[in-house]
Amino acid sequence: MELILTDHERCVNCNKCINVCPTEFANTVVSYKGKLVHSVNHDLCIGCGECVIACNHNARDYIDDTERFFSDLAKGEKISLTVAPSAKFNIPNLYRLFGFLKAKGVRLIYDVSLGADITTWAYIKELTELNLETVIAQPCPVVVNYIEKYKPELIDQLAAIQSPLMCTVTYLKEYKKINDSIAFLSPCIAKLTEIRDANTNNMVQYNVTFKKLTSYLEKYQVNLSEYEEIHFDDIDAGLGVVFSKPGGLRENVEYHKPGAWIRQIEGARHLYKYLDHYSVRLKKNKQAPLLVDCLNCVDGCNIGTGTEKAIPIDDIDVQIKAIKKMHLEKWEEPTTSGKPKYNLFNKFDQELKLDSFKRSYTDKSDLVKVTEPTPEQLDTVFKSMYKMHEKSRKVNCYSCGYQSCTSFAKAVFNGYTQKENCFRYNLEISRLEHEENEIVYGEIQRLNELLEQKVIERTEELEIVNARLEELLRIDALTEIPNRKAFDEQLEREWNRSIREQEPLSLMMLDIDCFKQYNDNYGHIQGDLCLKNIASALVSSLLRTTDFVARYGGEEFIILLPNTDKKGAITKANTVLKQIANLRLKHDYSVVTDYVTVSIGVNTIVASALDSSEDFIKDADLAMYQAKANGRNSVFHINEQK
Ligand code: SF4
Ligand code: SF4
Ligand code: SF4
Repeated sequence: MELILTDHERCVNCNKCINVCPTEFANTVVSYKGKLVHSVNHDLCIGCGECVIACNHNARDYIDDTERFFSDLAKGEKISLTVAPSAKFNIPNLYRLFGFLKAKGVRLIYDVSLGADITTWAYIKELTELNLETVIAQPCPVVVNYIEKYKPELIDQLAAIQSPLMCTVTYLKEYKKINDSIAFLSPCIAKLTEIRDANTNNMVQYNVTFKKLTSYLEKYQVNLSEYEEIHFDDIDAGLGVVFSKPGGLRENVEYHKPGAWIRQIEGARHLYKYLDHYSVRLKKNKQAPLLVDCLNCVDGCNIGTGTEKAIPIDDIDVQIKAIKKMHLEKWEEPTTSGKPKYNLFNKFDQELKLDSFKRSYTDKSDLVKVTEPTPEQLDTVFKSMYKMHEKSRKVNCYSCGYQSCTSFAKAVFNGYTQKENCFRYNLEISRLEHEENEIVYGEIQRLNELLEQKVIERTEELEIVNARLEELLRIDALTEIPNRKAFDEQLEREWNRSIREQEPLSLMMLDIDCFKQYNDNYGHIQGDLCLKNIASALVSSLLRTTDFVARYGGEEFIILLPNTDKKGAITKANTVLKQIANLRLKHDYSVVTDYVTVSIGVNTIVASALDSSEDFIKDADLAMYQAKANGRNSVFHINEQK
């Protein structure tokens, strides 16, 4: 049956609900919109409400009938109300609330304390008449749910008597002939499971918890002070008024059976463990308490799961003490023996039949579908979580919410959680990913280095190619000596040096005599060969590495002579002239000799910033034309003309 709800949007997978849940697997981890969230397995849930209290992300809520109760009242449904004893402590203006509810159409209002008296009366009768050795009290539906689902072997020990609520309603229906639908004003969210249980005969239709009722009143801005005070419609209860406090039943039974062995135990943390021990005790045929007075809530129903939990328990005790005194005075009659006579039970003996208040239970253990893994299966789960060794399987850090790593592995095995909810598993995954990343990173590093090396190699190759291209750009393709571009750059350098160092700079402009005739008569191939021979003769005629020879264009060559004055330049020009003549390149069509000759114009300067290198070349050119004019095969220095 569905009772606890989870808002998956709000759930942050904090695992608190697992941690507080007295059952191992009622909270299951599921995937929702790409994240892990928690859900409730309703078959495994016992409705203890611990997760609703623990979840501080408001992701947990419970089903309650408040809205339906008011809506049915508005439709004219005949509804009477039974009120839990704890309402007196939880709802301020309780009697004005009754006024409001009656105004809304509620017919009769009964105090469940009377039903508590009937329950005690029935317990005492059952214990005495059947001579029972041990009985587990069942007013708390969570205890009943736990035993029916998880400890069916204890069903025979559950008192076969209805709860105070059901005793009240039985009394109303069977003895007061009230046929209305019944609502329960309740401190308990799990009462819904009791009222919908087949064994309670569908006698109650609405579980209206204090908490949801308070929200309802706030939501609809109900001002209770506007309503008159109206009291219960029933006869006054007796000692049943203390039922809602821890040990309330015990106090009732001890009143009638002083000295009886009664185990009083409350709170989810202790109760369910105790029932495990109790079960073992019975199996071993050991003596057990006559009555186990047990409640799921540590402070009893007064601060039950459906309350605001806002009242200090001592304040409740003070109030209960006063109410108890008042109610006992009504039903106790002094006797000569000193032990007062309790007239309420005499009344019950006369008016009620025990059978009316009996109930039975159902073994619901088949709902609990949990398979116990074999050691091999558990080992497989652990290995899938990278828990290879015993130590890692006993970390038991509780961060997954489970009580142990084994319990978590069992949940994984049964599909109730996912291994990603173990933080150590995630750590291991991160570590492995880190390692993997390191390997990948190392490989990337290695490839990068390889790439860098390749880039360096290619760059060097490119630089060589570029340098070669640069070189080729400055080399004359035919003669393989520097071309005019290379000369211009060299001239700029030497020109600047001459300005800087004030050293003389000389230039020879050289032209092959009658080269047109040579070409015309010997052909271009021969002409090219002639140019190559002249070029190599010029290169070998220069003794200094600083001297620079280039092809200037056509049959013209140019030679730059750094640190060379006029005299030195003329001497060098004459040497060149001779060297060419010595080549003895046949030229039958020259007007000078039978061999190839050249004319050389020379210029010399100590350059200043006011001079121009273009003029420097022009003057050398002029000198060369003068050498031609002088009969060719000669040297002429421009300064001789000036
Ligand atoms: S307590 Fe449970 S339901 Fe609430 S946020 Fe945490 S995991 Fe989610
Ligand atoms: S109500 Fe109780 S039993 Fe159910 S899931 Fe929450 S803590 Fe577990
Ligand atoms: S102790 Fe009372 S309020 Fe708490 S679960 Fe049991 S019956 Fe409900």
